[in-house]
Amino acid sequence: MIIVMKHDATQAQIDHVVAKVKRLGYKAHLSAGEERTIVGVIGDDRPIDPGNFEPIQGVEKVLSILKPFKLASREMHPMDTLVNVDGLTIGGNELVIMAGPCSVEDRDQLLEIAHAVKETGATILRGGAFKPRTSPYSFQGLGERGLKLLAEARLETGLKVVTEAMSPEQVPLVAEYADIIQLGARNMQNYELLRAAGRAGLPVLLKRGLMATIEEWLMSAEYLMSVGNERVILCERGIRSFETYTRNTTDINAIPVVRELSHLPVILDPSHSTGKWEYVSAVARAGVAAGADGLIVEVHPRPEEALSDGAQSLRPERFADMVRQVREVARAVGRDLIEVEWNSKTPA
Ligand code: PEP
Ligand code: MN
Repeated sequence: MIIVMKHDATQAQIDHVVAKVKRLGYKAHLSAGEERTIVGVIGDDRPIDPGNFEPIQGVEKVLSILKPFKLASREMHPMDTLVNVDGLTIGGNELVIMAGPCSVEDRDQLLEIAHAVKETGATILRGGAFKPRTSPYSFQGLGERGLKLLAEARLETGLKVVTEAMSPEQVPLVAEYADIIQLGARNMQNYELLRAAGRAGLPVLLKRGLMATIEEWLMSAEYLMSVGNERVILCERGIRSFETYTRNTTDINAIPVVRELSHLPVILDPSHSTGKWEYVSAVARAGVAAGADGLIVEVHPRPEEALSDGAQSLRPERFADMVRQVREVARAVGRDLIEVEWNSKTPA
């Protein structure tokens, strides 16, 4: 349930409502918009009588949120959420480009890619140090050594770092090195991991599960938010379908649907959602046209030698072309790309 305060409600009236919510045994979640404050009533599923709040001064109306996700819902927070990643805003008018290798393989590979993607428009470096591989015999990632290389690449380029944590135990280590913790498709419903990542104090990139409905995905976002993390970025990465010419099927629909249902930013991963580099640019353009707040793209200078996901990795020149095309589409829909900023971490 949400309690919508009048636009001229005083702080004392808001405090009074919050106190009453707590007295009834619920948690109050405040969302202070430009126009008015909304008080979310969060707790168990017991029905609450709106009559508890309607007569209180300063209350405009009381509405129930019928969706099972509450904190993640647009009703709770009508304005788009802007996720601040150490000074960089995700979810605003400007789109974020995250790019880098599927896996961190070695120092030279990572630094080469980091410089290339930075020069051509990325502001966030992606790269897995802990890799969720279908086969236990495939390359599993460099672990902490990979995290250290990502931190070194950040220092050299000023790019921020997004990288995956696969278990609750890995979260503190990943949080030491990352700017954003990635939760992978296979772990979207790993609830202990969601709670641990939610509590880590960093923004979380939540990938959609391979077989997850949009509602299940938003319920996973709700887990992150229910432990106090408001900085959640959703990522559509393709879902399983009967189609075999692509690795997954890009659910373009999910982008406008999520934007309607939720205030959280949503980005698209055209690499995993197609599985073939040949289709990555086209699908990236489609995602931006559909309203995505950014892209996360796999890039490798020698895809044929990549230790994972070479088939879907763009060479740096192709990545540069993709960014140019995507910028035009962004402008056509009244948006733009975040411009690369040189900051103190960037060497002169
Ligand atoms: C990845 O980003 O490399 C990855 C493994 O993604 P997903 O979890 O979407 O498969
Ligand atoms: Mn990958």
